[in-house]
Amino acid sequence: MRANLFGVGIDALGMEETVAHVAGLVGSNRPAWVMTLNPEYLYQCRFDPRLLDLARRADLVTADGEGIVWACRVAGCPVPERVTGIDLMLKLLEKASSAGWSVYFFGAAPGVAAAAAEKARQEYPGLKIAGSRHGYFQEHEESRIAREIKETAPDLLFVALGAPKQEMWIDEYLGEIDAGVAIGVGGSFDVLAGKVARAPHWIRRLRLEWLTRLLRQPSRWRRQMVLPLFVWAVIKEYKLGKK
Ligand code: UDP
Repeated sequence: MRANLFGVGIDALGMEETVAHVAGLVGSNRPAWVMTLNPEYLYQCRFDPRLLDLARRADLVTADGEGIVWACRVAGCPVPERVTGIDLMLKLLEKASSAGWSVYFFGAAPGVAAAAAEKARQEYPGLKIAGSRHGYFQEHEESRIAREIKETAPDLLFVALGAPKQEMWIDEYLGEIDAGVAIGVGGSFDVLAGKVARAPHWIRRLRLEWLTRLLRQPSRWRRQMVLPLFVWAVIKEYKLGKK
């Protein structure tokens, strides 16, 4: 089942079901794309048809954050829980190590993708690392990077370039890479590599992780200014009878 917010379909799957669905995509032998949709991205979709189009073409869209889970509830199409990029990546690494899938880490600052891959190798014994590469490159290097990734034939390709850059990159090059499942995971390599700490569990349980991120990384303030606008847009669209 799919929820629908502002014309974007969101798969109404919990974490375990999402992992099972990704397993199906890995087994399908055609390239597939999983998007972890956050409120900032969805809000921008209302003004940028390119972003809307990208979100509509992903094979699987997860509710990345409490804002999306809340909005789905308000819109009368609830999803079971949030499935964030970092949580999904960790679950998929676990699954990859037991299922024998190979994994490529593409993105983040020089050294961070390699450190994340090394951390994953330690945490998930037997995990096959197809490769890693940082996410700072010139436009003319993009095709070469895609070719290098293709040569390693990863089952899972984590792309951590931030949104919407990672979505645009996946859209452009997934066909060329021609295998595996690509997933945009934002700042997740920084967390896995230990460069950025996640909020403690009790704060996550209170659903306030977004607030800690905001306090720890004040540069996010500008970005998160859209959150109240997102809340208002959802209320206007789905509560005040405009739709
Ligand atoms: N990044 C990158 N290449 C770029 C711009 C950003 O690899 O050209 C990386 C950056 O180093 C960081 C991630 O993309 O690791 C973006 O993290 P952020 O927390 O902003 O992502 P979000 O999940 O919030 O979109």
